[in-house]
Amino acid sequence: MSRAIDTLWVAKNEDQAIPPRVKLRIFAAAGGLCEECTNLIVGKLRPEYDHKIALINGGSHTEDNLQVLCSECHKVKTRADVAEKSVMARKQRKAAGIKKPRTIRSWRRFDGSVVTAPRER
Ligand SMILES: [Zn+2]
Repeated sequence: MSRAIDTLWVAKNEDQAIPPRVKLRIFAAAGGLCEECTNLIVGKLRPEYDHKIALINGGSHTEDNLQVLCSECHKVKTRADVAEKSVMARKQRKAAGIKKPRTIRSWRRFDGSVVTAPRER
């Protein structure tokens, strides 16, 4: 007899809340410890469910991309995710040949003549 073991949860869309049974599974698998700092999540530390690869960085809203973090580590992780997102966005713009418009558009040469550059580069 073969029966599929309880399959990993996959969200139908990115707005779907993580079901309680999935949170229980993730929390139990982590042994009630934060998966970052490995502290026991008790007292003022609250368990928070985090996407290992953030949704904003292309991660999926699925059980295998979720982990439990303490509220402190989650704060730090979220900041890092946002920073990563802006680095990626910059790299993508650069790869696509998009340059920032000039902010300084005129300057003087050493001989005193003024150079005016177009905004576009
Ligand atoms: Zn932690």
